[in-house]
Amino acid sequence: MRWSQMYIPTLREKQTDAELISHQFLLRGGYIRKLASGVYLYLPLMQRVIEKFANIVREEMNRAGALEITMSVLCPAEIWKESGRYATMGKEQMRMKDRHQHEMVMCGTHEETVTYLIRNEIKSYKQLPLNLYQIQVKFRDEIRPRFGLMRGREFIMKDAYTFDATPESFNRSYQAMVDAYFRIFQRAGIDTVKVESDSGAMGGKMAHEFMLLVDTDAGEEVILFSDTADYAANVERAVFRDIAGVTIDNHLKERQTVDTPGAATIEEVTTFLKVGATRLVKTLMYMADGQPVAALVRGDRDLNEIKLKNAVGAVELEMAGPDQVERYTGAPVGFAGPIGLDKDIPLYVDPLVAKLKNFVVGANANEKHIINVNIDRDFKATEVVDITLAREGDGCPLSDGRLVARRGIEVGNTFMLGTKYSESLGAKYLDAEGKEHPIIMGSYGVGITRTPQAVIEKYHDDKGIMWPKSIAPFLVELIVINMEKESHVKAGQSLYDALTEAGLEVLYDDRDERPGVKFNDADLVGIPIRIVIGDKSLKDNKVELKARSEGETALVAVDDIVVAVKNLAERIN
Ligand code: ATP
Ligand code: MG
Repeated sequence: MRWSQMYIPTLREKQTDAELISHQFLLRGGYIRKLASGVYLYLPLMQRVIEKFANIVREEMNRAGALEITMSVLCPAEIWKESGRYATMGKEQMRMKDRHQHEMVMCGTHEETVTYLIRNEIKSYKQLPLNLYQIQVKFRDEIRPRFGLMRGREFIMKDAYTFDATPESFNRSYQAMVDAYFRIFQRAGIDTVKVESDSGAMGGKMAHEFMLLVDTDAGEEVILFSDTADYAANVERAVFRDIAGVTIDNHLKERQTVDTPGAATIEEVTTFLKVGATRLVKTLMYMADGQPVAALVRGDRDLNEIKLKNAVGAVELEMAGPDQVERYTGAPVGFAGPIGLDKDIPLYVDPLVAKLKNFVVGANANEKHIINVNIDRDFKATEVVDITLAREGDGCPLSDGRLVARRGIEVGNTFMLGTKYSESLGAKYLDAEGKEHPIIMGSYGVGITRTPQAVIEKYHDDKGIMWPKSIAPFLVELIVINMEKESHVKAGQSLYDALTEAGLEVLYDDRDERPGVKFNDADLVGIPIRIVIGDKSLKDNKVELKARSEGETALVAVDDIVVAVKNLAERIN
């Protein structure tokens, strides 16, 4: 492909609305343009990258026995009502009415559609297992679209759905997808780690995320790893072993309300009462779908809102505002406590709190706390459930090691859905004895537009992108320094023909531009292999050959270039 006939609108200036380097380079390299918040247009270079990555995904899905289909973006709201998710998706779901006033949704995921598809056709265990996938556009009205293609409102996803009769068969289907995912990301040039994750809006029992570890702001997820055992989990889900070494009293002391003037924060109260933070219990007020709930965590710990949301079974959970706190506790923020709180307010108590004796809580009165409080004697928990946020330095739950934090970009995930959708939407099969069961399902996503940007986040320098060869828009960029010299243009054309003939994808910069412009654009656009035809070397019938990711330039005889390019391609990522 000739650059002069391409559409590669590179930009020299720093783009002010792009925080991440990968987003900068996609804009400046002429890969994407923004149409609206979270909505992007993919230009020819991006289109080629997307196609390359999508094809890797397609090959690995097909190899794993999945079957490609295409489902519609539009979907009648009815089946989302049947699954129950019409009520729980919240504002992320794009909704509209058609001209007949039928409620429609734009799909952000396709569990409902695919279950609708198979529910009348799968009748017997003999038709299972089945794995259907698609590579297609998704719409999600993300609350904070940002970072370019990383978190768009319209984006491309590969989503697969498995249907199995037995748990054993499901485990095989799930493992086949996990194996395929490792291969997919490896072929795209990146190492990923599989971590346990919260199953979020998908529901179901258990989920895993595939993370690309990065050290930049692009890493929106925090992952906790064990430094000794095989444990890795998104902080949203991570559990830990408490190593605070809290001493638990033997005897219950007499409960007493004390004045704590001017002391509302953990620090102020612990200083005033001369107790450690592990003896203080925080009572946090939340609004769960509009109803107040109280959550108790130890004073030295933070609450994990996702764990609390799951424990409550809420769709929306948010911290109560100061007015709400005052209304429900009768005191300003900082003095809430479990004793004397309205009986209708459920109390979720962390196990680390449930274990304590003679602890301190707020008294639901201004500038007052209660000391020597004991669970069961002084108040009852609605539920004792892990709601504490794990953090770096905590004990590993599986060993005597510690947890270490890293940041990651989620490029794919796998969900064990169980029978949530098959039960709600009525997708059943008959077993060999003629008994009816709901089909066991899984769903599996890969970010087709997010992943290439994540790859850039990993592979770039200060001048531009450094694509791995497998998803680069072209393998080779051929630069003729001086398009006014006939001998150079001739050499350029013959090299271009030879490389193309050999089946290599070449972007031929045949523009009548200054060398500096061509080199800057080449660095920015990030094609893995560069050939430069210049005066000095051409005199000896040689050209310069260089990998974008390496410093050294080799001089190669014109006649040997195809072999040299192939050898270089073999060697680089
Ligand atoms: P996140 O936690 O990042 O919001 P998610 O859990 O909502 O992701 P899924 O619904 O499982 O993600 O989607 C599957 C894959 O689709 C993700 O692993 C990610 O690669 C991609 N993806 C999800 N949301 C977006 C988005 N807003 N923009 C681009 N890609 C996305
Ligand atoms: Mg999301």
